[in-house]
Amino acid sequence: MSCIFCRIIEKRLSSRGVYEDDRVYAFEDINPQAPVHTLIVPKKHIPTILDVSEEDNELIGHMFQVANRIAIEKGIADRGFRLVMNCNHESGQTVFHIHLHLLGGRPMHWPPG
Ligand code: 5GP
Ligand code: ZN
Repeated sequence: MSCIFCRIIEKRLSSRGVYEDDRVYAFEDINPQAPVHTLIVPKKHIPTILDVSEEDNELIGHMFQVANRIAIEKGIADRGFRLVMNCNHESGQTVFHIHLHLLGGRPMHWPPG
């Protein structure tokens, strides 16, 4: 199994877990870009946004529900937060197993870099 996030999901690699159910695992980013930087990762290996199909509709919605829940638990929901999913190299995607970045706890800039 070469995918680093599949290995994290399987607990072959350690991570700081935040939330887990049968469909997703959320854990703290190893290189946080904000006071809150949690990754929400589907247990299904989907390489990029371009590989998301209709059968994943419920899964993708569930990822947003989990992000909401974590944002509320971490106290950033009312202040505001950002959800990011990168796709392919120019976006900055480095791990080819889709993941939602939950970023918050500081003012965010727009446009992003
Ligand atoms: P991407 O650049 O693909 O959108 O995001 C990948 C994210 O995964 C980066 O923010 C990076 O810091 C994080 N990351 C990469 N390897 C690991 C790891 O082994 N453990 C954890 N917790 N995060 C990782
Ligand atoms: Zn994977």
